[in-house]
Amino acid sequence: MKPNVDTPSDMRECDVLVIGGGPAGSTAAALLAERGHRVTLIEKDRHPRFHIGESLLPANLPLLEKLGVADEVKAIGMEKWAAEFVSPWHDHKQVFHFADAWDKSMPHAYQVQRAEFDEILIRNARRKGAEVIEGCRVHDVAFLPGDEGALIHARTEDGADQSWRARFVLDASGRDTFLANRFKVKQRNEKHNSTAIFAHFANVQRNEGKAAGNITIFWFDHGWFWFIPLANGNTSIGAVTWPYYLKTRNKKPLTEFLMDTIALCPALQERLKGAQMVTEPEATGNYSYTCTQTHGRNYLLLGDAYAFIDPVFSSGVMLAMQSAFVGADTVDCCLRRPGEAAAALKRFDRSMRVGPKQFSWFIYRITNPTMRNLFMGPRNLLRMQEALLSVLAGDVFGKTPIGPSLLAFKGLYYGISLLNFKRTLMAWRDRKNNIRSVDAVGGMTN
Ligand SMILES: Cc1cc2nc3c(=O)[nH]c(=O)nc-3n(C[C@H](O)[C@H](O)[C@H](O)COP(=O)(O)OP(=O)(O)OC[C@H]3O[C@@H](n4cnc5c(N)ncnc54)[C@H](O)[C@@H]3O)c2cc1C
Repeated sequence: MKPNVDTPSDMRECDVLVIGGGPAGSTAAALLAERGHRVTLIEKDRHPRFHIGESLLPANLPLLEKLGVADEVKAIGMEKWAAEFVSPWHDHKQVFHFADAWDKSMPHAYQVQRAEFDEILIRNARRKGAEVIEGCRVHDVAFLPGDEGALIHARTEDGADQSWRARFVLDASGRDTFLANRFKVKQRNEKHNSTAIFAHFANVQRNEGKAAGNITIFWFDHGWFWFIPLANGNTSIGAVTWPYYLKTRNKKPLTEFLMDTIALCPALQERLKGAQMVTEPEATGNYSYTCTQTHGRNYLLLGDAYAFIDPVFSSGVMLAMQSAFVGADTVDCCLRRPGEAAAALKRFDRSMRVGPKQFSWFIYRITNPTMRNLFMGPRNLLRMQEALLSVLAGDVFGKTPIGPSLLAFKGLYYGISLLNFKRTLMAWRDRKNNIRSVDAVGGMTN
């Protein structure tokens, strides 16, 4: 990017400028401000604001603890002790209790309304000393030569221009992928493609007792549904479908299309008897991508600003916050111990690629009949079930020795696939057809 030589006289200065106040940006801002860096976080919206992505993973909890917001999140969260899978091709419901994962110290997570959750995180960043500016959109960043940092230009809701000079920039702009778009390093995922339609419902039939907050995944012919019970009594329901299916909506109103889609999944429809849709439905697509780089001179990409694949394992918020923890260590090192920066950036790069790699192997296969059978009839042979549960819990960063058991699970998957060669071939062909791009939506909302 060409440096902007017109430096306004009222340009402000900070050590780290964070673009975006979602889970990644607010976490990184809090951690860096706590370490004494001058941090400015710029968010285009104003909190509280709606955001999709309401199911957290057990691996989120230690991060919330370290951030000092565990009690606040507990107060707004619905306890989630298990993930349930319901398949029209099987006659039972499969329940995975997080307490049965390899590491027994993370037996639950929370379902949260993101308006409340994200607000807790951004207020925490301010409390820890970051300057937080909401209602202000970053529209230009120019990196200066050498170690001189960057010039950042933003515009407030009332049209006022503001500028900063920062030593380091963290791009946490989510699926807007601010820097990746500018540097043209964002790549559509060739191996995956799906779209989502979702809304909140009141008076949905929930499980009893401790199981009331479990997430349920319902498979159906065109993809799968999420069922996420929230603490305010509402339930978030979303269909994640192949793009061709959303295209069949044609001009049908989205509310009607979502209800018609739910009707294709009788087990879910049963739970919605007497329920009412209480939010406007939304649709989104084109969200499976990865950037070719995780960082550059004086900047890092965090959370969705680097990659997003698919919501099926509810991994987005945990990966965003995890990237912020590693990112904050990396920036601290770059600014305070530049001699060690190269090694820190290498560690950051490695860490950013772990999550998408671990989850994508399962994501690409989750609608495959072999994988569905393994999920619906799990066995703890060679501790495979515990390892699978650790993945479902988000425990994928190498602290728990699940590697050999996951390898055995993958071996079993490939073995069964070979034994059922014809079915495997048909599933492979179907998938190839299903992930084709049909320009069904482009992040639309209506
Ligand atoms: C259909 C769907 C369902 C999902 N379900 C789940 C789930 O159940 N569980 C889960 O963990 N994850 C889920 N996710 C993923 C999750 O939503 C994201 O991974 C997570 O929000 C990423 O956090 P982030 O901080 O990187 O980005 P975001 O949360 O998107 O935050 C980015 C912020 O940057 C701001 N911003 C953008 N551009 C600018 C700019 N130029 N200037 C200033 N501010 C800017 C935005 O307003 C936003 O507040 C789902 C995703 C989808 C698409």
